[in-house]
Amino acid sequence: MASSVCINHTNRPATARCITCHKPVCEDCVVRHEGSTFCGGACRDNYSHFHARYKGERPQGFFARLFGSVKNLVITVIGFGLLGLILVYAGAKILNLGFCQQLLKLIGIP
Ligand SMILES: [Zn+2]
Ligand SMILES: [Zn+2]
Repeated sequence: MASSVCINHTNRPATARCITCHKPVCEDCVVRHEGSTFCGGACRDNYSHFHARYKGERPQGFFARLFGSVKNLVITVIGFGLLGLILVYAGAKILNLGFCQQLLKLIGIP
């Protein structure tokens, strides 16, 4: 760290580093925001915009979408399974279809 000097004052030692562009800055130049250090307002704004977007949308959207598609898949599979079972049951009991009765026996429904 001894070789690091401020990007604006080459005669001053850098006391902080911008977390966005990693440039060293002295105590007079450093911009502090939410516990982080920046070389200037532009980097601070870039960082807070990036963070606001990252925190606000991406993980939530991703998990919501993932959960939504899994839920839809489960509902679809259960829905079609029930529908098929009802059709087979109706076919066996009401229409007396031989293959439906055999299918019910196969599943274990009397
Ligand atoms: Zn910077
Ligand atoms: Zn400086």
